[in-house]
Amino acid sequence: MIIKFWGVRGSIPSPPTPTALKERLKAALMVALEIRPDPNRLTEFLDSLPDRLVATVGGNTPCLEIRDGDDFIIIDAGTGINALGRSLSDERIDPDAERLRYLVESQYHDLPFSQFDKNEKILNINLLFTHTHWDHIQGFPFFTPLYQRTTTINIYGKRGQQIHDVLRLQQSDPILFPVCLDHVAAKLTFHDFPPEGLKIGPFEIESLTLPHPGGSLAFKIRSGGKTVVFATDYEFVGTDTEAENAESRLSNFIEGADVFVSDTQYTFLESMTKEGWGHSSPLKVAEMALHAGVKKFFLFHHDPFYSDQKLYEMLERTHSYTKLLSNDHGMFIDLAIEGRQIEV
Ligand SMILES: [Zn+2]
Ligand SMILES: [Zn+2]
Repeated sequence: MIIKFWGVRGSIPSPPTPTALKERLKAALMVALEIRPDPNRLTEFLDSLPDRLVATVGGNTPCLEIRDGDDFIIIDAGTGINALGRSLSDERIDPDAERLRYLVESQYHDLPFSQFDKNEKILNINLLFTHTHWDHIQGFPFFTPLYQRTTTINIYGKRGQQIHDVLRLQQSDPILFPVCLDHVAAKLTFHDFPPEGLKIGPFEIESLTLPHPGGSLAFKIRSGGKTVVFATDYEFVGTDTEAENAESRLSNFIEGADVFVSDTQYTFLESMTKEGWGHSSPLKVAEMALHAGVKKFFLFHHDPFYSDQKLYEMLERTHSYTKLLSNDHGMFIDLAIEGRQIEV
């Protein structure tokens, strides 16, 4: 399996600030002044620098692609799904022109399909939603395969959260978006994620309800003998027993996972002041992952107000803390970084 992170920030999109970019440039220039790279080999020089100097952790809200060969599933439709949609769409089609054409054609439903449509790439997409909070759905209207007639999207939401109604409300035409969900070109089907689990192509998928305002689903995906768990938007709160029970349910769910991608929005200190906000902190989650025998742990749902530098500091502290717990634990720990692919 391959996991690709298309959006890793929580709550609201957060592009890097000009000040943060300047700081990064300054740090890279300091290295350049020290080692004086060959001006003809600047690409190699840049490739040799750590991500924290040449890349951003990413500002788009949650969206993951999980792929096994030609089969893939998508989890959540934060703003990261825009770039994913463009990567899936037929490269012969300009998505903006498509959207515009569809806006025009939708006024005249009897128009014959243009010659162009016959060449459209057929896409069969399965999209799972952890929950319907805005940061997990806000990219959906900008998912370009929505505007191709040869696309089918099977959408799965948490039971009781009425994913169809929520997405339709988000695309209320014309007050919230110019194209009503009922008039998009793609064929959409809506389902509650079945409690007994789901098989899509090679993927066997189970869910677990997480404690979060309104609830959120964690997904465990198995394919080719490997296991990936994605659990975002959760916090162990309530009475001690409630919190312990929730933690032990998730701990069992992630037991032995090859990859665990988890909400770690707040530093430990900040999580104390934001009890009930529905998010976790990396030290506590790392401890649980370590005890559950997770092989690779990725910090996810980064706070939009945290700089990249602060996220790398959180990562360092997580490394130090897990070392204190077990000096030779062997669990790989990293930040989920937008645009990065993980081979499982
Ligand atoms: Zn969220
Ligand atoms: Zn949420």
